[in-house]
Amino acid sequence: MLEFDDAQTRLANGAPLPTAAVDLPLRDAMGLVLARDLTATLDLPPADNSAMDGYALRHADFRDGARLPIGQVVYAGQAPAPLKPGHAARLFTGSLLPPGADTVVMQEDTREADGHVEILQPPRPGQHVRRRGEDTAAGTPLLPAGTRIGPAQIALLASQGVARIPVHPAVRVGILTTGDELVEPGAPRASHQIYNSNGAMLAALVENMGARAEQVLHAADNEAALKSAFQTLTRECDLVVSIGGVSVGDKDLVKPVLESLGASLDLWRVRMKPGKPVAMAHVEGKPIVCLPGNPVSAFAVFAVLVSPLLRRMQGRRDLFPQVSHLALRTETPRQDSREEFLRVRRIVNAGGVGELHAFEKQGSGVVSSLPWATGLARIPTGRAVYDGEKVAYYDFQHWLS
Ligand code: AMP
Ligand code: MG
Repeated sequence: MLEFDDAQTRLANGAPLPTAAVDLPLRDAMGLVLARDLTATLDLPPADNSAMDGYALRHADFRDGARLPIGQVVYAGQAPAPLKPGHAARLFTGSLLPPGADTVVMQEDTREADGHVEILQPPRPGQHVRRRGEDTAAGTPLLPAGTRIGPAQIALLASQGVARIPVHPAVRVGILTTGDELVEPGAPRASHQIYNSNGAMLAALVENMGARAEQVLHAADNEAALKSAFQTLTRECDLVVSIGGVSVGDKDLVKPVLESLGASLDLWRVRMKPGKPVAMAHVEGKPIVCLPGNPVSAFAVFAVLVSPLLRRMQGRRDLFPQVSHLALRTETPRQDSREEFLRVRRIVNAGGVGELHAFEKQGSGVVSSLPWATGLARIPTGRAVYDGEKVAYYDFQHWLS
């Protein structure tokens, strides 16, 4: 048996880093990963401008009770004339400061009459001015290679006038579900059949991470069907994820089929619950990950074991998202010979502190635990965990994105 941490590390290193890059318009790059470091080419803001609606002046011209003539009105988008000594300029949020002006007084602290403005509050030198380059200076790092592009990154890039960026193409993931008992949602179901929930689930997990579920296939429990499906997926995808058929039952044919395809099988049993049977293989250099069939096991194993591998293939900088430590509320002490990943919900208690509550039914087939849970709590082996003890918490928001 392989320890969980070893399995996680081995899987995370089980594929090469991406090399391909394409230049895409910003919007099409959403969810993808930056292929090169980007540097700012523009000072932002590009010129000193006002943070308020009000009046610009030279701070040195301020006297108590002074009334300054208003020499010009500057709207955002206009180029101001130099500020005459002893004058003020009327301006608005985003208006450029006239050359010579260094301070802005907000409208609420002034009184305007007869083309003059009276300053009612002594201003601080330089107040309410957004300085050229104070946000981002030209030549400074903007975003490093390996950053996943989201709305915040798009905002920063657009502010620099960037229209296209180099990204790694989406990783193409092939998904293979297995089992004679399964029918697709939407199809008629006989009493001895169950719906295939893993196919749709895995496709959604993959796409949520910014990869592409290129093909979702299903194979019955026979060697010919499995072999042909694995051949198609390894040909057309960068990563293959199969679900089910990896135990030691009569119909667990994934292992022999992969071996017949010349695969080298890298790991087999992980000391974790749910999800003991997990395998990784390579066929012609392409990684294949085999997950347990129980939907909850497949979900949990994908979250904590497969997602770092996928992040690596995407070229992302951070393969292992944050793990926090929170108190577990449990009526009975929890202990097992395998590391257990409980489906838990993080709630904020009456004292304003986050804590974890376990779903009542922790069976590896209990799909109703998934929408209820916000993440997984890791229960170590070798000793019991008591009510209120802190345990490692893997939040789905981080681990599944
Ligand atoms: P297996 O690993 O193939 O023995 O499957 C373990 C359990 O998970 C069995 O109860 C299967 O019926 C169930 N299972 C396997 N694949 C799926 C699937 N795609 N959708 C829903 N349940 C599945
Ligand atoms: Mg099966």
